[in-house]
Amino acid sequence: MSLPASATIVEVGPRDGLQNLRQVLPTAEKIRYIGLLAASGLTVIEVTSFVSPKTVPQLADAAETVAGIRNLPITPVALVPNLKGARGAVAAGVRRLNFVLSVSASHNRSNVNRTREESLKELAAIVALAGGAPDLTVRASLATAFGCPFEGRVPLAEVLRWVGAVAEVGVREVGLADTVGYGNPEQVRQTLLACQERHPGLTYGVHFHDTRGMGIANALAALHCGVAVLDAASGGLGGCPFAPGATGNVATEDLVFLCEEMGVKTGVDLARLCEASRFLQTILPDVDLPSRVLKAGPPRPCGPILK
Ligand code: ZN
Repeated sequence: MSLPASATIVEVGPRDGLQNLRQVLPTAEKIRYIGLLAASGLTVIEVTSFVSPKTVPQLADAAETVAGIRNLPITPVALVPNLKGARGAVAAGVRRLNFVLSVSASHNRSNVNRTREESLKELAAIVALAGGAPDLTVRASLATAFGCPFEGRVPLAEVLRWVGAVAEVGVREVGLADTVGYGNPEQVRQTLLACQERHPGLTYGVHFHDTRGMGIANALAALHCGVAVLDAASGGLGGCPFAPGATGNVATEDLVFLCEEMGVKTGVDLARLCEASRFLQTILPDVDLPSRVLKAGPPRPCGPILK
């Protein structure tokens, strides 16, 4: 399949990136960081998650963060693990929710302390909540869709079953997440093609961690399957605190570079995006941001060479 003409990069740095840090950033610095990300042209930014402040103290200021970015020209997204989180996000003014459910039972237990079936019931309740609010959208992100830190391989049949289950309760957008970087490009291709065939009519997104160096290759495989919604974290920060061995997401700079050089429009200004990550670096001086493009700098000239 040919590459999509354009792709939506969902920036998850303020959530996936900051949740895994040892330190808790001040809200004002998060707001400034999100402002710089928005200034680069990113329009969909996962700004926080509405979770228990006891389990994820780094994001305990979720409502304050959302209030602080209200005037930015972006669609803020909040990750929610349950109905309580969804209610909190909606009360704070978020209209786009990202619900997380793990394909593997043990990661779901570790991540949200529920069985998958219990999570599915929460999701159904959130979809019902959204049913009364036409501008409220819910994406279901299936964690460990390409491998689990506790169970190892995750059968494709299980991925298909859970895509079907979330579609059944009314979700139209499904994210497939490689939480700990187990996936490879051929697995990504086979998984996406099988999902698209078995459950057509859904919008698929992908969320890759670069734990084992496959992140960008996996993103390319997804683009070749026509997937045009890709998560990434500026600087390549990120990781799930409840998945042993988890490390950073695909770096947004590297993904934007990949897309733009191949002629897939992202609307993101790479130089300005690097400015946002450099700001992040100044407030996290002890963290090594793995983004390659951030280290090397955007090329001059930058843009498609194939057209
Ligand atoms: Zn992640």
